[in-house]
Formats: sequence, C-alpha cells, structure tokens
Amino acid sequence: MHYINGSWIDGSSDFAVTNPATGEEVGRVADGGAAEATQAVDAADAAFQSWSTTTAYQRSEKLYAAWELMTERHEDLAKLMTTEQGKPIRAARNEVKYAADFLLWYAEEAKRIYGETIPSGRPDQRFLVMRQAIGVVAAITPWNYPVSMLTRKLGPALAAGCTVVLKPAEQTPLCAKAVFEIFDEVGLPPGVINMVNASDPAPVGDAWLNDDRVRKLTFTGSTEVGKLLGGRAATNVKRVSMELGGHAPFIVFDDADPVHAAKGASLVKFLNTGQACISPNRIYVQRSIAEEFVTTLAERVAKMQAGSGFTDGVSIGPLVDEPSVAKVERQVNDAVEKGARLLTGGQRLTSDGLDRGHFYAPTVLADVTPEMTIHSEETFGPVAPVIIFDDEEDILAKANDTAYGLAAYLYTRDISRAWKIAEGLRFGIIGINDINPTSAAAPFGGVKESGMGREGGHVGLDEYLDTKLVGWSV
Ligand code: ADP
Repeated sequence: MHYINGSWIDGSSDFAVTNPATGEEVGRVADGGAAEATQAVDAADAAFQSWSTTTAYQRSEKLYAAWELMTERHEDLAKLMTTEQGKPIRAARNEVKYAADFLLWYAEEAKRIYGETIPSGRPDQRFLVMRQAIGVVAAITPWNYPVSMLTRKLGPALAAGCTVVLKPAEQTPLCAKAVFEIFDEVGLPPGVINMVNASDPAPVGDAWLNDDRVRKLTFTGSTEVGKLLGGRAATNVKRVSMELGGHAPFIVFDDADPVHAAKGASLVKFLNTGQACISPNRIYVQRSIAEEFVTTLAERVAKMQAGSGFTDGVSIGPLVDEPSVAKVERQVNDAVEKGARLLTGGQRLTSDGLDRGHFYAPTVLADVTPEMTIHSEETFGPVAPVIIFDDEEDILAKANDTAYGLAAYLYTRDISRAWKIAEGLRFGIIGINDINPTSAAAPFGGVKESGMGREGGHVGLDEYLDTKLVGWSV
C-alpha cells in the first residue's frame, strides 16, 4: 500500500516481500511509479503551507506522540523487522530503540530552531537571520536499517516544518508501513508525510528529481546510486544530503589490549551480518600484537551461530539476497587465491535448512594485501579482513587511501596518538577504543564519496532548514 494525503492506497499491481532467512513470502505491497510519485508530491506540496506554519510546540507534540507509540510497539516492530530483514531479534530490538530515539530527540529539538541578530555597520540598519523549513523533501531509504533510517529523516524533517515524500527500499516496505501507521495514528495532517512503494525505484526517483516543488533530496544507500541521484538533483539545484557507502579502517596499535580490541572488532564487524555502512572493512593490526589479536578474533567468530533471527543464540542473520552472497563469496575466493589465510568460515551455509535463505559463514581472513579486491571494495557481508602493519608513520596514509570516508576506528592507550590519528583520519565518524560512535544526539555522516550532510544531533536539523536574512532599516 502507498500512503498518500492521509489515505492508504492500493495499486493496480503489487510485488512480493520475502523473508531472507527462509525465502518465504511475508507480504505483498502495491507497486507504484511516476503517477503515484507525483500524486504524493501534490499532497506534500499542498500540506506544506499549513504544516510549516504550525508552532514548533505543535510539531514537537506529534513527534513526541509518535515516539510514545513506537516505544509501545517496540516488540511487534522488532519481530516484523526480523521477519522482513533478517537481523537477530536482539539487534532488531536495539534498532527500534535507536529509531525511536530520533523521534524523541527531534521532538525536543523542534523547539530550538533559533535565529540570530547580527550587528550592522550602518547605524540605521539591523540584521535578522531566520531559519525556515526548506519545503517538500524527497527521502529514499535502504533495507539494512529499515526503521531507523526512516525516523532519522522524518524526525528532523517534521521538526523543521517540512513535508515529505518517501520511498522505502523494495526489500523492506512492511517496516516502513509500520512506521507510517504510527504517524497516521498520532494524527499528522494529511499530506505531511507520504509514501510510495515501487519494485522499480527509478521512475519514482525520476519523478521527484524532475519536480521543481521538491526542494531537497535525502538519500541513504549505495555510492553508485547516490552519485546518480545527486547529479540529477544538482540540475535543478535541490538541497542534497546523502549517506552512502563506507570502507572503514579499524586500526589496532601495539599499545592496545589485543584481546579487548579483537572483541570489539568481532562485535562491530558482524553487526547486522556486516551489512552496515560503518562496518570495518580493513582491520589493521600492528605486527607485535597481530598474532594474539587474530587468534582471539578467529576464536570468537568461529563460535558465532548463523540462522533465523528468532533462534536463541543466533548472532548472524542472512544476507539480503543472492547477489550479496555471491559478492562475499567472490571477495573471499579472490583473497584466498592471492594468498590470504582463511582462519574460519569461508563458505556458504546450506545445511539445516539454511539453503532456503542467503547465508554465508562468518569469516576471518589474515594476511590480506592491497592486491585483493576486499582491500578496496565494500563487502557488506560477514568477513573480517586483517592486514598487518609495521610503522605508525604510514598507517594514516593507508587508512585514508580509499574513495570512501564514513567511519574509522582506532585502538590505543596513548592519548597523544589517539588525538593525532583521529585528527588525521579523513572520515566523518571516528571511534576511539569504541565500537558504537552513534546516537540520535550526535551527527552521523561521511566525507568524500561516503556522502554529505549529517543526520542526528542539532546539525541534523540544519539539513532541513533554509537560512533567510532580513536587512531592516530603522
Ligand atoms: P543497496 O545496495 O543498499 O540496496 P541502493 O543504493 O541500491 O543500495 O538502494 C538504496 C535505495 O535507493 C533503495 O530505496 C532503492 O530502491 C533506491 N534506488 C536504487 N536505485 C534507484 C534509482 N535509480 N532511483 C531512485 N531510487 C533508487
């Protein structure tokens, strides 16, 4: 179903949604295209005038009510997510909590959209700066975090007074529907948020990018699609924020505790089965502690259990689809052929019914070198590639030698080293002895080809506001 102008709308055709752990169909949703996309913009554009002139307190109240309802439905949403997206239920619960955090944070932040007065050089003049909602926002979201990627955009957009047209990923429309049900029930006025589903996203994206009434694109997904959409948005000068791919370095210096660092690496690398843009993709370990680090990492990873996210003890869910498994398989085979040491994993998982889903064993590769594809290509799967380094001098150059710039991690107990390396890393998010440098209260986003703009925190709101200067003769 689409959600346009406050109503649920069926389409003339639909498409199937499947459980990636079992291949079973779990629902069907309406299949839309350019016509529905334009209808959604009609509704969002018509609603903008009144929504953008509500008080911040009124908008805050709606966001707060949505937070309450999402919190109440926490368990149902988590179960739906595990069914539709595959992540283990505990991870799904964490994501719903994280998603709700954005609603609460922006319910609070809506009331803090401050302006400014600026002294003028002219005695008869005053300057006033006000900040106003951009207009209709087009949001396109991915499948890997199917609830939080919506609230991270809807929260600040609604707080600012924008109206929204959203297209969720075709793999996870049921989670998106559940989020929209919450907003519908809290009584957002018709047209303020609208959703179009499509098995083929391109016509929807084209309709929005060619529509002058859409004043901003916010996109989370692959760098490839981000470049395509960003280029089009530039032709009619829409504001753009994009959160794209990553290739995170995870650097372990010789003064770090190798066991603690290996534990951190095993947790963050295999989160969401490696299907996260901040997932470490190059684990650099200084030579003197490399053996202990690698042994601990491999031991921990070998114990990880793959399967349905509803099974107790499972921490590795399925990959999203067959091409994703094939990509992981290709990267691992390429690395092993070129001399990487396979310490655990390294194959598809097909026994005990796992062949019905898209499973790949959690894998650790040691002795990874720059000739291997995995050294430069994003994996988006459960593979930890370890690279030994000797000199602190060139580790920054190595870590920064990528077109991406989203997250980077470092482990050290030397505070000067931590400061200097964090400063030198050309990434938007740095974890120092920390594997979870994210929060609704903090700015998330990348540099270089990992994107532009930030989501979360007070700066996340700036992305949905225009600045207006008023020069006033007195
Ligand atoms: P992923 O590799 O995470 O699936 P994509 O960039 O392909 O990343 O998808 C992220 C989002 O972008 C999804 O909602 C998808 O439907 C959408 N998308 C992909 N291609 C296009 C396109 N040409 N126009 C508009 N949206 C697109």
